[in-house]
Amino acid sequence: EAYLDNAATTKMRKSSILAVSEAMEMVYGNPNSIHGIGRKAEDVLESARKKIAESMGARTEEVVFTSGATEGNNYIIRSYIKEGAHFITTAMEHPSVLQAMAYAEKMGVKVDYLKVSRYGQIDLRELQEKLTKNTALVSIMMVNNEMGAYHDPKEISKVIREKSSRAKFHVDAVQGFMKYPVDVREFDVDYLTVSSHKVHGPKGVGAVFVKKGQKPQGLLLGGEQERGFRAGTVNVPGVVGFSEALKTKDAILSDFVRVQNLKEEMVKELSSVDGILFNSQKDLSSPYILGISIPGMRGEVTLHYLSDQGVYVSTGSACTAKDTKDSHVLLAMGMKKKEIQGSIRLSFEEETSLEEIRYGAEKIRDAVKFLRRP
Ligand code: PLP
Repeated sequence: EAYLDNAATTKMRKSSILAVSEAMEMVYGNPNSIHGIGRKAEDVLESARKKIAESMGARTEEVVFTSGATEGNNYIIRSYIKEGAHFITTAMEHPSVLQAMAYAEKMGVKVDYLKVSRYGQIDLRELQEKLTKNTALVSIMMVNNEMGAYHDPKEISKVIREKSSRAKFHVDAVQGFMKYPVDVREFDVDYLTVSSHKVHGPKGVGAVFVKKGQKPQGLLLGGEQERGFRAGTVNVPGVVGFSEALKTKDAILSDFVRVQNLKEEMVKELSSVDGILFNSQKDLSSPYILGISIPGMRGEVTLHYLSDQGVYVSTGSACTAKDTKDSHVLLAMGMKKKEIQGSIRLSFEEETSLEEIRYGAEKIRDAVKFLRRP
């Protein structure tokens, strides 16, 4: 078998599973209760918060826990909605950003969508031109989830800061966190969203870095949990499992090289397929994601064939897997309909083996042999 769908979700780390299970059994108190059992839960929660904060160069009190990155992205974007406001984003964001932006437009916000190039890059000059004194929020993802295009938050914040002292910068770092070193101070961001289940932690847990001094208006009405930043009892076992899944910077850097080699091996193995397009360019994309298009193939049909052979991939992204619209990301990259229809996404993790890569490639070549139509 070969699980090549790690951008959709990852297998939980054993240590994370154990930590969740232990927390469920031992730390059942409500971290907001004042008695001993509650305080014990609070201690465990706060030490997990400290670890997660450190992993992104943030202060402990700058981390707010959520139910995942969909909530995190909505939380930040929707906080800035005000009639007449101006936002900037890109045409290839995750639906949790794009849908929040569409909602903002309905509420009277003017949203500019930056164009993306054939390999998913934005043009910093266009960003500079679109920024105005009135711009309230810029939201640009670190790594695209469909074909891995990488954007350096540092370069983007430099452009924003030079032009505007008002605009806040939000980064959806879901596919970049634990793949690249993330440092919110070096990136100079105001907000950054991450998700536990993309980094071998449990599902339904995420965090947002909220820079000291900012207090976005929450999405949920309710209690004063998370110091008033997010109502609702925190998923303590989930957060503990998330913190247990984190890696050191050294591990991030060495895994990067390892996975880069795996991706190159996959590219080499597939280069013999006639007409294949690689939608992720080596130096412009994350090693963890490889988008390919094979004209004459149908992505969904290929996916089912591969699944029967024990090779698990996706068309576009998992969250849009069940809708039949062409990928907005590949459309934004200017690809033709036929190319988009033959697209699949392969995504790797630190423990993907060379055997999985070779097996996956062999089955993809078989799929082309059996399923391709002129
Ligand atoms: N942003 C990006 C780039 C993603 O890939 C995902 C994953 O689906 C999300 C946001 C949403 O994350 P979650 O599943 O935690 O809501």
